[in-house]
Amino acid sequence: MNIAIVVHGGAWDIPPELQAEHVAGCRAAAETGWAVLTAGGPALDAVETAIRVMENHPVFDAGRGSHLNRDGEVELDAGMMDGRTLMAGAVAAVRRVANPISLARRVLHDSPHVFLVGAGAEAFAAAVGLPLCDPDDLIVERERGLWQARRAAGGEGRPAFGSADTVGAVALDAAGNLAVGNSTGGTFFKHPGRVGDTPLIGCGLYADNTVGAAACTGWGEQIMKTVLAKTVVDQIALLGDADVAAEVAISYFKRRVGGLGGVICISPAGQIGLAHSTPHMAHAYRTAEMPAVVAAIRRVSRKEEQ
Ligand code: ASP
Repeated sequence: MNIAIVVHGGAWDIPPELQAEHVAGCRAAAETGWAVLTAGGPALDAVETAIRVMENHPVFDAGRGSHLNRDGEVELDAGMMDGRTLMAGAVAAVRRVANPISLARRVLHDSPHVFLVGAGAEAFAAAVGLPLCDPDDLIVERERGLWQARRAAGGEGRPAFGSADTVGAVALDAAGNLAVGNSTGGTFFKHPGRVGDTPLIGCGLYADNTVGAAACTGWGEQIMKTVLAKTVVDQIALLGDADVAAEVAISYFKRRVGGLGGVICISPAGQIGLAHSTPHMAHAYRTAEMPAVVAAIRRVSRKEEQ
């Protein structure tokens, strides 16, 4: 069985005091997804389950624990794609769904559309029987404190890219099907209604059984402009090596827009690729040859930093 899973927990300059929690969250997610794959489950299930673990973990900028927007509210985005059929589902700016990845999955399967936003997405959630939460349930003290400090410091100003604990997963199942998903609270202090790359097909995520699957994290405005996930997958098709494809895509991203971010990917043969331009990327993965999940904070090498 050529199964594989790789997850990310954001790419940025992760402070030392948060690194252990990032690694633990990524490990738990990858292990949960791996259990689905070894039981013969579909890649879509592995991706959704892994991402729910990270959405439920308050250290990540996804689900509960997400960054607050300029108005002090959590607005969540998520997307999923099925590499077998190219079916996709995405949601953005939802405020009352604790696990938006599951809502994206329902859009993928149960809606004639690909992308639903805001109140319409929440109405769809209610219609398909997904629970709606109180928006305040998604806010944790750490994030409220950061938001209050930013407000006290004047708040406004050009948005900059700082922390980015968005989560994502890519999986290959025993039937040879690839799937990908991403979930985020977006960037800190974003303009209400702002949507980044995370739920956008081709930008934050892409999956096609015939060429590969990729998920991105980092500064969404830059990732959107370089259609980064599709760029990674195109490079897998061209080069046949997932790790080199990830490096080539990140080096284009850096060169073309000064990109800050990271990518994870899997080739149709089950090879995993990882690359980032930020100081760190939280991640975990396992392939059929490995005895256990490896989870770590990946660091850019000195050579890459130059
Ligand atoms: N890409 C996300 C966004 O721009 C942020 C992240 O990856 O953490 O919304």
